Amino acid sequence: MRFWFLTGSQGLYGEDTLRQVAEQSQRIAEILGEGLPFELEWRPVLTDAAAIRRVCLEANADDECIGLIAWMHTFSPAKMWIAGLDALRKPLLHLHTQANVELPWSSIDMDFMNLNQAAHGDREFGYIQSRLGVPRKTVAGHVSDPAVVARIGTWARAAAGRAEVGSLRLARFGDNMRDVAVTEGDKVEAQLRFGVSVNTYGVNELVEAVDAAADADVSALVKEYDDLYRMAPELRVGGDRHESLRYAARIELGLRQFLEGGGFKAFTTNFEDLGGLRQLPGLAVQRLMADGYGFGGEGDWKTSVLLRTLKVMSAGLPGGTSFMEDYTYHLTPGEEVILGAHMLEVCPTIASDTPSCQIHPLSIGGREDPVRLVFDAAPGPAVVVGLSDMGERFRLVANEIDVVAPPEPLPALPVARAVWRPRPDLRTSAESWITAGAPHHTVLSSALGAEELTDFADMLGVELLVIDEATTPRQFAKELRWNQAYYRLAQGF
Ligand code: MN
Repeated sequence: MRFWFLTGSQGLYGEDTLRQVAEQSQRIAEILGEGLPFELEWRPVLTDAAAIRRVCLEANADDECIGLIAWMHTFSPAKMWIAGLDALRKPLLHLHTQANVELPWSSIDMDFMNLNQAAHGDREFGYIQSRLGVPRKTVAGHVSDPAVVARIGTWARAAAGRAEVGSLRLARFGDNMRDVAVTEGDKVEAQLRFGVSVNTYGVNELVEAVDAAADADVSALVKEYDDLYRMAPELRVGGDRHESLRYAARIELGLRQFLEGGGFKAFTTNFEDLGGLRQLPGLAVQRLMADGYGFGGEGDWKTSVLLRTLKVMSAGLPGGTSFMEDYTYHLTPGEEVILGAHMLEVCPTIASDTPSCQIHPLSIGGREDPVRLVFDAAPGPAVVVGLSDMGERFRLVANEIDVVAPPEPLPALPVARAVWRPRPDLRTSAESWITAGAPHHTVLSSALGAEELTDFADMLGVELLVIDEATTPRQFAKELRWNQAYYRLAQGF
């Protein structure tokens, strides 16, 4: 995956100037490329409409190119950009910069003025983008400023997420949990809007893969568990429940085999449809999430899609990203926090410490006791994001939160969990979230923030509502009302 760096100019300036433009833009691209999480490929300076259209069509056709960064070093008359921008189907970032940081006040002459015209060249480019309604992010500043590079980096991560969701394949084992509304959704619309393909497989196809796992592979995986986690003595070799750990390893091997074989990077399970599985998949799901797979419980494919996408967007960043569910509240005035967890399936990338591997009964699912990793989430700023299908469109809602250490140990709770203080406060957060119709299943990420999510939503033309420190219920309700009108109009008839 890489980005292309485009430089706009025109033939009017003559060869000498255009050579300088090329040298300077290569240098800008080089500095920028060093700070980006992906490769940046400099492309020759564009001086006419045919070349501009050609490069946009090439970008569309090149699966490795996941976005364009464009800068008008000089003045590039923007009618030349109409055909190209109109054809462009890849994310676009408009970098408004210039070659120099300081003006050479004592020596500045008309040659310098002739060469350095981005201040108005980029405004011409901004006009045509707005006139054509081209979705893009505009970033102003010099690339030697780390804040500028960081903002381009967040956009680049969003573009990587868009590329991922555009070709994602998701396997559902079973359908959605019966009678649940919010985990449903229009899979055809999802494929059109996001690109993801969502298909169901009989859970017994998975059971066959689980049963077929080789004993030697099971033994090797059990050994890996023992190296990685604090293992409950009863699960160890020779322990009373060791056979349950071996079966959990068998589920992991079968799941991996199924997902790898089908090219799936995301999946769902449903405790109501376990077929011949002897345990509800817990440990296996946790470990697959840690390896970057998307997951949603109870057939929740939308959250699974979101989790996989956000995992790709956050690749290489500190922090973790997990499936999550708002579970229960601590409502003592002034100390309000949310306790988030799931039956089993919380990703160990958000753990504060080495997870402990345990086995406990679980009435849900009605099978043998499932093995799971238990831990507390690491404290720090994070975001929770949910995706709802509102019937006529999808809606993303995000809440900036602060994960905190649990006020007291939770020795009797046998699942992984996160405790957080939602911004601006629990009441505003919960009222806004519920007013927006946002789901109870979310993705919690301590690696990403609102800016990546905003860039991602903009690229896809999907609504995003952010609940943060500045949110008031009144303003949020207005935003919802305005968005209803905007998105209906933006969809056309
Ligand atoms: Mn759930």
